[in-house]
Amino acid sequence: MEVKSQLLDLKPYQPGKPIEEVKKEFGLDRIVKLASNENPYGSSPKVKQAIEEEISRLALYPDGYSAQLRTALSARLGVGEEQLIFGNGSDEVVQIICRAFLDGLSNTVMATPTFPQYRHNAVIENAEIREVPLKEGKHDLDAMLKAIDDYTKVVWVCSPNNPTGTYAGREELDRFLKAVPSGVLVVLDEAYYEYVTAEDFPDTIAYLNAYPNVMILRTFSKAYGLASLRIGYGIGEKSLIQRIEPAREPFNTSRIAQAAALAALDDQEFIGSCRERNKQGLEQYYRFCKEMNLSYYPSEGNFILIDFNKDADVLFRKLLEKGYIVRSGAALGFPSSLRITVGSEQENNEIISLLKTIL
Ligand SMILES: *Cc1c(COP(=O)(O)O)cnc(C)c1O
Repeated sequence: MEVKSQLLDLKPYQPGKPIEEVKKEFGLDRIVKLASNENPYGSSPKVKQAIEEEISRLALYPDGYSAQLRTALSARLGVGEEQLIFGNGSDEVVQIICRAFLDGLSNTVMATPTFPQYRHNAVIENAEIREVPLKEGKHDLDAMLKAIDDYTKVVWVCSPNNPTGTYAGREELDRFLKAVPSGVLVVLDEAYYEYVTAEDFPDTIAYLNAYPNVMILRTFSKAYGLASLRIGYGIGEKSLIQRIEPAREPFNTSRIAQAAALAALDDQEFIGSCRERNKQGLEQYYRFCKEMNLSYYPSEGNFILIDFNKDADVLFRKLLEKGYIVRSGAALGFPSSLRITVGSEQENNEIISLLKTIL
């Protein structure tokens, strides 16, 4: 049996080392995992109660339209209910977009390094991948514009960008969107939107009226702290959403996920406090970098990419032995950097002192 030839070049997703395995391997009893940009404060306490209430209905299929969550989210975002599409994580919305738009005759433009799922799903659809190197850690929107041609179907802008934490400012994104041909879908992946504090971060929802070819992706996995439940969403113009809906599985988000997301959405105080604590956590790393003379990208996410001028895998290993799991930049296109998720103040202090002894 032969799979599609393009699959032969793809590796399945490599998950980080499981906590239990690391404990055993190094004889540790406490592990701090700062590798997947998960929320160190968990999720809103309201979530637990919502899940408990939903748990008696597990035998019933979920609402394939996510009506309750849809109503609440559309009110919060100030968009129409028909402007939303929900996915099994925003990862699935990436997959839906690729299924809906890409084929062997089309190409898709993205930055490199960026979030790997755009490329991964586009390869499966057999599209040509056009990767445009970051410029000083940021999307090079001018170069991305030049990479667009008559066969381009989708352009991906990850902002804040994973793994650099950089973002596309209002002015440059304005200019970019004006110049992109209207037949090309521009996907703005804002997985870290809730953490952003930059003043010139664009109000991208306002773009949707002017640009029917724009789609925004957001998720409940990061600041909302629901990564394990797998629920994210896309926001776009009504007819765009209508056209891609057939590529979505009918029951792609679970009852538990919908109920949890609804409760999480209702606790904006929790989100505000996570944003504030994350900002203070980033400051801890900035001070450390300045003290140690290390270069880094100022981040609008809940992670920071720091260049240690050393083999990232070796450094990763040294931290792992002590029970701290971070992400080596080697697999992310930054062989001398680590991507560290911002943890609690205490966790950040621990990792910073450990790094100081290692360096
Ligand atoms: C984490 C992440 C996602 C995926 O999140 P889901 O858990 O699938 O919702 C999407 N984009 C970026 C840039 C991410 O870092």
